[in-house]
Amino acid sequence: MTHEDNFRHQGLRRNLVLLLESKGIRDARVLAAIGKIPRHIFFETALVSHAYQDKAFPIGEGQTISQPYTVARQTELLDIKPGHKILEIGTGSGYQCSVLMELKATVYTIEYQPVLFYRTKKILPEILGYHPNFFLGDGSKGIPHFAPFDRILVTAGAPAIPQPLIDQLAPNGILVIPAGDNEKQEMIRIMKHSDGKITEERFGNFSFVPLKGAFGWT
Ligand code: SAM
Repeated sequence: MTHEDNFRHQGLRRNLVLLLESKGIRDARVLAAIGKIPRHIFFETALVSHAYQDKAFPIGEGQTISQPYTVARQTELLDIKPGHKILEIGTGSGYQCSVLMELKATVYTIEYQPVLFYRTKKILPEILGYHPNFFLGDGSKGIPHFAPFDRILVTAGAPAIPQPLIDQLAPNGILVIPAGDNEKQEMIRIMKHSDGKITEERFGNFSFVPLKGAFGWT
């Protein structure tokens, strides 16, 4: 792991931002966050050349750091405002969490896998200076104790939309979740309107590692 952020890294990051723009990402704040966060810090030193390609990459324990396009698209769909209280399910490497922190949200992030949880809980504050609220456990049930949330983001593929997550959305809240089978999921955005009415929109196919736990695959 390298902590240096040099001109080469910064140049590669600028190219990544241009690529994401060319793929249709329009939210300037999301692009600025991706342009700022040193994604190579989440990679082993020998693998730094992969960090600014638009692809998912293994982070150990059978899990992945999401593709930058996927991170940008999910974040854009969430329409985050400064001060929003956000629940992220699937902390993983902490990269997506860093993007949420850059948008000045208050982030509650939960990870199922203990090795990843302890690694990211150490790295994010120490190296990048981000201080989200970290939790170890089954995020498919949400975190009822800290609900409601203005935004909920699921970064693993669910078999269906967990009812507890809808229940834990605040009025005018948004849930973004990939749902489908093990191979392929559809990106779904759920909105809870001020009168409690729920609406659903779909945004194309993606491929995530499976959401585990009570409302996941096992
Ligand atoms: N947001 C992550 C990042 O930026 O690196 C993406 C990580 S990966 C695509 C999905 C993560 O969800 C994995 O770390 C996995 O262990 C975690 N996960 C799976 N099921 C979970 C659950 N029920 N609760 C919390 N985390 C879960």
